Amino acid sequence: MTDRVIPLADLRYAARIPVVPADAPRPDGLLADRRDRPLHDLRISVTDRCNFRCSYCMPKEVFDSQYRFLPQSSLLSFEEIVRLAKVFVAHGVRKLRLTGGEPLLRRQVETLVAMLGELRTPDGQPLDLTLTTNGSLLARKAEALARAGLKRVTVSLDGLDDAVFRRMNDVDFPVADVLAGIDAAAAAGLGPIKVNMVVKRGTNDQEILPMARRFRGTPVVLRFIEYMDVGSSNGWRMDEVLPSAEVVRRIAAEHPLLPLEAAAAGETAQRWRYADGQGEVGVISSVTQAFCHSCNRARLSTEGKLFLCLFASEGHDLRALLRSGRSDDELAAAVGGIWQGRDDRYSELRASLPGDDSAAPRRVEMSYIGG
Ligand code: SAM
Ligand code: SF4
Ligand code: SF4
Repeated sequence: MTDRVIPLADLRYAARIPVVPADAPRPDGLLADRRDRPLHDLRISVTDRCNFRCSYCMPKEVFDSQYRFLPQSSLLSFEEIVRLAKVFVAHGVRKLRLTGGEPLLRRQVETLVAMLGELRTPDGQPLDLTLTTNGSLLARKAEALARAGLKRVTVSLDGLDDAVFRRMNDVDFPVADVLAGIDAAAAAGLGPIKVNMVVKRGTNDQEILPMARRFRGTPVVLRFIEYMDVGSSNGWRMDEVLPSAEVVRRIAAEHPLLPLEAAAAGETAQRWRYADGQGEVGVISSVTQAFCHSCNRARLSTEGKLFLCLFASEGHDLRALLRSGRSDDELAAAVGGIWQGRDDRYSELRASLPGDDSAAPRRVEMSYIGG
């Protein structure tokens, strides 16, 4: 089975038109890739636009007024997203996360939430439906999202110091408005809320303890993410990565921590609880402790390309299949074939890759496929 690499009018990253295997078995939820990893989690990017310009994700110099975001006609419609989500659920997906760009910028995103909320697993269970947001529009939208059936949210917040945070989002957005968004989400019942903080050594690592103190003793689960070399535009350097072990050491020096078991297979965060019962924190060590061996996540880009790894440089163009009139069975056969061929494990290989990757294919941006 050989895929065809094709040029597309709005080609952003290389994409293949997937082959539809004629003899694919019907989806039974037991799909596994070449490393025996199941397909469990689908992240759906609903827009490539964002109102922030976090330097580690959408640096202003690249995502400036000249940058051409995807035109409306390129985006998957809500109906197309739901159709694909159904196919993924048949293959074993149990968790859907809406992301972006900033997902709350997508017009009527709550309508999509309501449509996805109707989906059921083959044994009749609702899916674990969640969303990752920068929180800027959450105070306004939390209520409507909860009413539409969203279960919980993850909010990104990189510090409590207003000057530090404004510098990191690079659009002068204040901390207080994100905190108001988190409060609104809690009031709307969108919990347990997770708060993600990307830690960049020398930029916001002094915010680790204030953030830990702020959310200790609350139901919010704070998680620290190692700064990653995603995309090709953030100028990533290893010396700006603060290893998660150091994050844990700093917090534990003030409040002793005890390790917790992973809540679910394939969970990205290592969980710790405060020894005095004041809640938990997590660390996501994508750089210093790769977890590719259990990575069960697929990513669907805003324009319907399926990516098998955050560090991929090529996607599989499911939109082309959707818009050429393929049936659900054919879509399922294509997705099954793609997942069965998956061998990605970038983070495990990172250390052995050549330092200068300027000749390597351009990696997809995180704002395009979502975190
Ligand atoms: N705009 C939303 C937000 O910020 O929550 C959703 C999309 S954003 C791409 C998803 C997550 O990716 C955020 O938590 C963000 O902090 C994280 N992220 C982006 N670039 C990153 C990088 N270079 N390293 C680690 N995490 C990153
Ligand atoms: Fe926007 Fe989220 Fe990327 Fe920041 S991390 S620029 S909020 S998409
Ligand atoms: Fe999954 Fe790719 Fe990240 Fe490894 S590097 S954990 S395969 S997304």
